[in-house]
Amino acid sequence: IGKLKDSILLKQNHVLTSRDWSSTDFPWSGKVTEVLNSVFKLDGFRPLQHETINAVLSNEDVILIMPTGGGKSLCYQLPALVKSGVTLVISPLVSLMEDQLLALKALNVPAAMFSAASNKEEVNSIQDAMLNKNAKLKLLYVTPEKLAKSKRFMTKVQKMYGLGRLSLIAIDEVHCCSQWGHDFRPDYKFLGVLKGMFPDVPVLGLTATATSKITIDVQKMLRIQGCLVLKASFNRPNLYYEVRTKASSQEECLKELEELLKTRYCDQSGIIYTTSIKDCEQLMHELRKRKLRVGCYHANLEAKFRSEVHAKWLSGEHQAVVATIAFGLGIDKPDVRFVVHHSLSKSMENFYQESGRAGRDGLRAECILMYRLSDVFKLSSMVFTQQTGRQNLYNIVEYCLDAYRCRRAIIASHFDEVWKSQDCNAMCDHCCNLKERKEMIITPFCQAFYQLISNAAANDIKLTAQKLLDAWYGKGAVNLRVRSVPVPSFSRERGEAVLGHLLIKGYLQEDFHFTPYSTISYLKRGPKAAAAMSDKHNITMHISGKSVPTLSEQSHNTAGNTKVTLSSKCFIQSPKIETYKKVKKSDGLEM
Ligand code: ADP
Ligand code: MG
Ligand code: ZN
Repeated sequence: IGKLKDSILLKQNHVLTSRDWSSTDFPWSGKVTEVLNSVFKLDGFRPLQHETINAVLSNEDVILIMPTGGGKSLCYQLPALVKSGVTLVISPLVSLMEDQLLALKALNVPAAMFSAASNKEEVNSIQDAMLNKNAKLKLLYVTPEKLAKSKRFMTKVQKMYGLGRLSLIAIDEVHCCSQWGHDFRPDYKFLGVLKGMFPDVPVLGLTATATSKITIDVQKMLRIQGCLVLKASFNRPNLYYEVRTKASSQEECLKELEELLKTRYCDQSGIIYTTSIKDCEQLMHELRKRKLRVGCYHANLEAKFRSEVHAKWLSGEHQAVVATIAFGLGIDKPDVRFVVHHSLSKSMENFYQESGRAGRDGLRAECILMYRLSDVFKLSSMVFTQQTGRQNLYNIVEYCLDAYRCRRAIIASHFDEVWKSQDCNAMCDHCCNLKERKEMIITPFCQAFYQLISNAAANDIKLTAQKLLDAWYGKGAVNLRVRSVPVPSFSRERGEAVLGHLLIKGYLQEDFHFTPYSTISYLKRGPKAAAAMSDKHNITMHISGKSVPTLSEQSHNTAGNTKVTLSSKCFIQSPKIETYKKVKKSDGLEM
C-alpha cells in the first residue's frame, strides 16, 4: 500500500504540475464561467472546484476528496451543462437526491431521478429523454440499488451510451465502495462494471473520506486505478476541538451538559451525538427535565417525526438535537455552534463528519468529545463484526487518549495531510493550554494486568475492563485481587488511560463473548504479550504535567518548538456567562 500511496501522490503531483487544471485557457473556459454566473448564480469557485471541472471536461477520471460542505455537487452539475448529453449521478440516498433536484429546479436545470418510488409515467418520460437527442434532460439521478437491480434501466443506459448521450458518470459518497470506509454499501460493488461498459465516459467519484487506503480501494473497485486524485484540505480553521473526560456518574455528566447548554452555548444551536437509540432517548428526557429545549432523532422514529424535529431545530425552537448517527447526510444548517459527542464516535471519519456539521458558516464553533473508557467497549461490541471496525475505533481512542498533541494535527495525519503545528492557531484544547510533556513507563502495569487476568482465569473467570480495573484498584470481588499486584498510586482515570493505551497498542486484546441478548467484551493478553514480558521491553505512555508558563512568557521562550499565538478567541472557561433565560416548557409529546 505504501508504494501505491506514493504512486497516487506522484500521479497527483505529476498531473498537477504538467497540466494546470485551474487554467482558464481551455476551449470550454468561457462557457464554464458563463454557466457558473448565469445558471448557478455564483461569483467564483471554491478550492478545487475549477480544477475538477476542467479535468472532468478533459475526460479524465477523477476522485475528488473534499470535506462535507465544500461544494462537491457543482463539480458534476456544472460539467453536465457544459457537455452535450446526460450526466448520470449515482447517489446513495433518495432524500439527498430530492434536495438536489429541488435546488436544480429552482435554477431551471432539467434534472430527474430514477428510484424505486418512480411511477410508470415518470419512468417512461425519463427513458424517452435518455434516448431522445432533442430532450432537455441534463442530469439523471439514480441509486446504486436501482442500477444494480434494474436490468431494464441498465439496458437503456447502454443504449444512451451507444447514441453518444452519456456524458459523465458521477458517483457521490464514493467511499461507500470500500469496505475500509465507514459506511460500506454492497450495491456500490456493482459500480465496478461501469468503466468496462462505458470506457469513453469519464468517472468522477466524490467523497469526504480521505485516507489513501480508501482512495486506493475505491480506484480498484471502480477500475480507475491511477486516476487523478484531487484532495482539498480537511482543516476547518474555525472549529475548536476539545476532548473532556466524561464524568463517571451520569448525574455529573448531565450537569456538565446542562451547564454547557445554559451558559457557554446559551441561545446557540447544536447537536449532541449519542451511540444508541436508548441513550439518545434517555438523554433527551434527562435534558428536558432540566428545562432544555431539545429534540431527539434516530432511525427508529417515523420519517414524519424526524422531519418535525429537524424543522424545529432549523427554526430555533429546539436548541439542540440529541441524535444518533442517523442525523447525518443532508443536514446542512450553517450556524451550528456546537457539536458535543456524548460518547466517542466509531471512527475518525465518523467523528470528522459529525463534528464537521458545526460552523458551516465559517464562524467559530466548538466540537467537544466526552471520553470515557467504558464507552469504548460499548462501541467495540457493536462494530466487532466489521473487518476493520475495531481498528477504526481504536484510532479515535488514540485521538482521545493523546495527552498533548494538537488535536487538528492528529486529525490531519489521519487524513494523510501535511501539517504544521502553528496552523492550529490555538483552536484546540491542547494548543490552548500547553502542558509539560512527560513519559510514563507502563510495562509493570501491563504485567500487573496479565497477573490479574491469569488469576481470574485460574478461577474460571473472564474479566471485563471494569472488573480488571476494580481488581487492580483493590475493589470488587476479593478472589479477583492479587496480593503481589500493588494498587496504583494514581487516579482511576489515569488507570483507565493506561489500560486504553495497552489495548490500542496490542498488549491487551478484546475477547468477545456472545449471549443471546448481548455481546460482552472481556480482556485477555494481546498479540504483543510476549514482548511485554521481556525485561528489555519498555512500553511508554505520554502524560501531561503542569501547564506551561503563560502566553507572554511562551512567546519569549526561544527554546520552545511550539510557537503558538493565543488569540482572544481562545478560552477554556466559558466565553460568555449569561443568566439562563427561562424557556417555554415543551409539551414533551413529540420526539
Ligand atoms: P458537499 O457535497 O461537498 O458536501 P455541496 O455540493 O452540497 O457540498 O455544497 C454545499 C453548499 O455550498 C451548497 O449550499 C452550495 O450551494 C454551496 N456552494 C458550492 N459551491 C459554491 C461556490 N463556488 N460559491 C458559493 N457557494 C457554493
Ligand atoms: Mg454532497
Ligand atoms: Zn491544536
